[in-house]
Amino acid sequence: MTVQRLEKAAGSAAAEVAARLRRLEGGGLRTFADDPPLVWDRAEGCWITDADGKRYLDLYGGFAVAAIGYGHPKVVAAIRDQAGRLLHCPSAHPSRVRAEFLEALASIAPVGLDRFLPAMSGAMANEIAIALARTRREGAIVTFTGSYFGRSAGTVGFAGKARYREALGLPAAGPFVPFPYPLRMGERATDFSMEALERLPDRIAAVILEPIQGNGGVVIPPTDFLPRLRAFCDRAGALMIVDEIQSGCGRTGRMWAIEHAGVTPDLMTVGKGIGGGVAVAAVMGRAQVMAWPPDSYTSTFLTNNLNLAAAVAAIGVLRDDGLAERAAALGPAALQRLRSALAAVPGIAEVRGSGLWFAIELAEPDGRPAAARAAVIVRKLREQGVIIGRSGYDDNVIKLSPPLVIEQDVLERGLDRVAAAIAGEMKEHA
Ligand code: PLP
Repeated sequence: MTVQRLEKAAGSAAAEVAARLRRLEGGGLRTFADDPPLVWDRAEGCWITDADGKRYLDLYGGFAVAAIGYGHPKVVAAIRDQAGRLLHCPSAHPSRVRAEFLEALASIAPVGLDRFLPAMSGAMANEIAIALARTRREGAIVTFTGSYFGRSAGTVGFAGKARYREALGLPAAGPFVPFPYPLRMGERATDFSMEALERLPDRIAAVILEPIQGNGGVVIPPTDFLPRLRAFCDRAGALMIVDEIQSGCGRTGRMWAIEHAGVTPDLMTVGKGIGGGVAVAAVMGRAQVMAWPPDSYTSTFLTNNLNLAAAVAAIGVLRDDGLAERAAALGPAALQRLRSALAAVPGIAEVRGSGLWFAIELAEPDGRPAAARAAVIVRKLREQGVIIGRSGYDDNVIKLSPPLVIEQDVLERGLDRVAAAIAGEMKEHA
């Protein structure tokens, strides 16, 4: 029987939706990467309900978007209110909501970044930042192995994973330097990275990086890395572009991950959580760097007022409900809980985390990355009603980025189930 027929035979509402998509959707999306796909119907707080009414605890936060939880009442109210007033507003025409959006960004921006540009996706924000760097100075845009800045034509060339750019038929866009990855590079990780950077023959226009790599598998560099990179950029006259699209919005226990290092980049991109569930991102920058002439950039829906109003509300919740502080308060005990539960389990290369962001890196008995087992764990947990992510340079990292509003007992029970599923799978094949 074909998959389509199986779906029909299954007779569920989810199967029916999947069958309709199979008939019409072009290739290339992730829709059927998990088969059968999880068909979402509703989401609230930390919980997703599928098309057949089954509930799932989402410990992945919709790829780290749901920082304030799904369907936050303040965001929903702001969207309702704005919908009755003004939806589309071209970027050529200012509106009150746009001013409020910039002021909201200013209220959470790191000290020293005081100019803002809107964007509609993380990739778009990064493209804007890269363009600002290119128009300021000729030279290479340097990045790191394992990086991820989006999958648009303007960003995918900087992706650490070659398959992402091969899918778009594009070459690597700049020199790649090893990202300091303590588990794989040892104590001198920062030295190795900085030496590789110093050895580059190119004139450098900018260095672009995630302060903690997300798609790379929550790779946390040693604490001396960002300050040394800042000093390098200053010496080289290069811009430091930091992508906080996944690491930001309180995820690591500070509003921005760079705050742990006390480093200010020249440009910083933000997205995901700032929209509260709608398509909003932004570039934050130093005024001297954000000096583009008028009409250098636009896109029809760039300043869509519905999105901006939602973002103003979401940023207010992030800031006023102290969600970064909440991540800082809950994170260390949660990480310890995972570490204790997995201490005697074979094949755990590392359990790492920062705030409410966790990674469990899995290895086979011979040390190879255990990608297939990570996939099995994700699938089994989904069957049990818990959503987690899989990520990493070799797809062997279990990744958790729960909504920051998650109740402590729900988090603890969720982590216990994740640890039990990992232990079950790793022990089975030890
Ligand atoms: N940068 C980082 C660090 C990300 O994690 C992502 C998305 O996962 C992006 C950029 C791309 O953002 P978007 O998918 O909104 O284009």
